[in-house]
Amino acid sequence: MREINLNGIGMTSQRTRDRLIQRLVDEGVSNQQVLDVLSQTPRHIFLDEALAHRAYEDTALPIGHGQTLSQPYIVARMTEVLLGAGGKLSRVLEIGTGSGYQTAILAQLVEQVWSVERIKPLQDKARERLRLLGLRNVNLRLADGGFGWPEDEKFDGIMTTAAPREVPESLLKQLAPDGVLVIPVGTDTQHLTMVVRLGDTDEFKTQRLEAVKFVPLLSGVVR
Ligand code: SAH
Repeated sequence: MREINLNGIGMTSQRTRDRLIQRLVDEGVSNQQVLDVLSQTPRHIFLDEALAHRAYEDTALPIGHGQTLSQPYIVARMTEVLLGAGGKLSRVLEIGTGSGYQTAILAQLVEQVWSVERIKPLQDKARERLRLLGLRNVNLRLADGGFGWPEDEKFDGIMTTAAPREVPESLLKQLAPDGVLVIPVGTDTQHLTMVVRLGDTDEFKTQRLEAVKFVPLLSGVVR
């Protein structure tokens, strides 16, 4: 891997990062913990060198294999929704590791993160970046995350960063009592959706939030 400057210079400096954080505040992100973690996490190391100088623009950027690193506003918003619905989350499942950026943000805010990716080369790079940041509370798995985590585990929070047509039943099954699922849903028109399990029942409350644009949730594994 190339030599990496975690602190950044010029277009990746702390000053440029602070401007992005101010923009997120202006856009309505209000959870201070989330803002702090975004401010402290270098986004430029999650991109190829040629795109690193654009890391602190509030925009989605390509990471290869037809996939994208989500827009910082969306990362902040989804994290805020996930954390906001309950207390401190201990176990969180992410579907769509991609670059590993959202994974890194989650790993600093919850106890343990399990993250599933279907494209091996993306997972390999994500693993290296998480190691570089010293984040050890993350378990990565190469699998089709549409089926959730393969074992019959329960999670306080589940976040999906690729959009299915409908909320997958398999993910609802893996929600712990009062667990929260944050997921983009739809094809041409997508909405960020929050689903909460009501206590330890098999009933769920679904809330449709803002319109979003994510890559589709696809099936199968690419090695
Ligand atoms: N959170 C990532 C977003 C990457 S884009 C980031 O900020 O970098 C969405 C990711 O979901 C892609 O890497 C894509 O390969 C992955 N994905 C799509 N369908 C999937 C599936 N069924 N299981 C696991 N990962 C999937």
